Amino acid sequence: MTIADLRSIRYGRVPTLAALAEAVHEMVAGGRTPVLLAGGTDWLVEQELRAPLASLSEDDVPFVIDISTMAELKEISVRGSVLRIGAAATYLEIRRHPVVLEKAPMLDAMARDVGAIQIQARGTLGGNLATASPAADGVAALAAYDAVIVVRSVRGERRIPFTELQTGYKASSRAPDEIVVAVELPLDPNAVAYWRKVGTRRAQAISKVALAGLAVVEGGQITRCGLGMASVAPVTALLPRTRELFLSTRLASLDDAAIDKAVEADIAPIDDVRSTRGYRLHVAKVLVREFAQTVARLAKEKK
Ligand SMILES: Cc1cc2nc3c(=O)[nH]c(=O)nc-3n(C[C@H](O)[C@H](O)[C@H](O)COP(=O)(O)OP(=O)(O)OC[C@H]3O[C@@H](n4cnc5c(N)ncnc54)[C@H](O)[C@@H]3O)c2cc1C
Repeated sequence: MTIADLRSIRYGRVPTLAALAEAVHEMVAGGRTPVLLAGGTDWLVEQELRAPLASLSEDDVPFVIDISTMAELKEISVRGSVLRIGAAATYLEIRRHPVVLEKAPMLDAMARDVGAIQIQARGTLGGNLATASPAADGVAALAAYDAVIVVRSVRGERRIPFTELQTGYKASSRAPDEIVVAVELPLDPNAVAYWRKVGTRRAQAISKVALAGLAVVEGGQITRCGLGMASVAPVTALLPRTRELFLSTRLASLDDAAIDKAVEADIAPIDDVRSTRGYRLHVAKVLVREFAQTVARLAKEKK
């Protein structure tokens, strides 16, 4: 991006969430989609791939509203058994938060695997959700938690259960004027969690496959199970058949063949620049098997 490009951007901040909702609504009603600049780690890259800003007509130049410092969007707290993370909290803030480390260490593991430290210091879950890439690490973790996405517009606040969020490739049930305010994760003190990302290298690599998993085990039986797999479908894959298998089979009776069959029924990965269909399918099965072994081991340790 050149200095001329930067000069052409219209940029501003608003003092409150209510004012943000008003501003976004007004722009959307006028046929414009403002950029909500959180970390900028997705938007700036996408902008680089588009026509130079300086070449655009005034009407087409994006209006950028900087939300990166809005206190109402940065809070991380626990209320009862729900962990709430503000949409503009960065991965680094999430990783370093004592409540996350104590109550949801899987988020720490996930956040450590996002880009490298520079991206973690800027990137946010709100941006990850809004871009809605099927490779998004944060979104996979939210899927495993059965998170609720809290959105806000001039019409008020709305809570979207994760299962109702994704409507297609990079598409969601969030209206164009709805701002992601926070995500809410239902906690369970007995939950055991799993995170594993497989990519070309450890840092700055988008996954070939990643799996977030969460389970509660009671008397040798999984009674709560959430799965979110990245990079194997047009959206974050929830693996419903695999989940059903885990919920209907005693841990001791789970076998690799049944797991493989369920995973195969759940996903249809593609060949692309990052990997092949065959490799992705193989890794997906390995990760789900590893999740099952981890759950069995951790559940035993928790006893
Ligand atoms: C080098 C590099 C490495 C990366 N590695 C990874 C990785 O390993 N894993 C991964 O998942 N991603 C990765 N990413 C992608 C990116 O960092 C993440 O998706 C990040 O979470 C985006 O958040 P952000 O705050 O930077 O979004 P931004 O770029 O600020 O915003 C992205 C879009 O979301 C909208 N938006 C932002 N916040 C909100 C909100 N609260 N409500 C509504 N709309 C909103 C904006 O309008 C914009 O259209 C990488 C990116 C780069 C450049």
